[in-house]
Amino acid sequence: MIIPDITIAVDGYSATGKSTFAKLVAKEFAFLYLDSGAMYRAVTLFAQENGMIDADANIDLDALKAALDKGLDIHFEHTEDGCKTFIGERCVEKDIRTMGVSSQVSPVSAVAFVRNFVDDKLHQFSAAGRVIMDGRDIGTTVFPNAEVKIFMTARPEVRAQRRFDELVMKGENPDMEEVMKNLQERDYIDSHREVSPLSRAADAYVMDNSDMTLHEETVWMLGLLQGKFGILE
Ligand code: C5P
Repeated sequence: MIIPDITIAVDGYSATGKSTFAKLVAKEFAFLYLDSGAMYRAVTLFAQENGMIDADANIDLDALKAALDKGLDIHFEHTEDGCKTFIGERCVEKDIRTMGVSSQVSPVSAVAFVRNFVDDKLHQFSAAGRVIMDGRDIGTTVFPNAEVKIFMTARPEVRAQRRFDELVMKGENPDMEEVMKNLQERDYIDSHREVSPLSRAADAYVMDNSDMTLHEETVWMLGLLQGKFGILE
């Protein structure tokens, strides 16, 4: 099946497997994958490392705005190992996935100028088209005209277990209660913030993958694309 050069927006709650699914689809149909959450995580890491955010997530907005306005260089590099996030020349892919960043990323991403900064970058990176992007507001704000929109969800305990396993695989020593609490807090802040809150676009297809394997997710996507575009050779 040949899929035309469309934009695919994947949104949903934390730890629903959006990036795993989006990477799979990108590989299967030769799309560029962009992880918008990684951009927010990189801004958060930068703020933390430069003393712009305290333990209670109070943000020094003036300092952060000045740094972003100066043109903070956050970008992706696509290698054989996948897509990696960089701040300048430093690969921060691992550093942005820690609990320390997860616990402060939602307050940072609720700030309007941070969202504008990230949205501009996402539009630049996707200018060539044929993109699949995952996040919280891709189908509602970043690409409201995306041809295919998917909204992912899964039962909270399934999501917490997935995130827990992921952190263990990365060598962290997570606490299940803390992981669950972080997911709940992020979902709450992400869904209730003033600027582009997480919500399902009216024209998004919903996927609850609580009991789905990755193969079943691929089959689900194939069915959706065939229904939309037919079998084009
Ligand atoms: O997708 P991931 O869990 O890595 O995203 C981290 C955080 O970045 C989210 O909890 C949310 O606060 C923020 N985010 C956002 N809008 C997006 C993508 C992520 O606000 N499009």
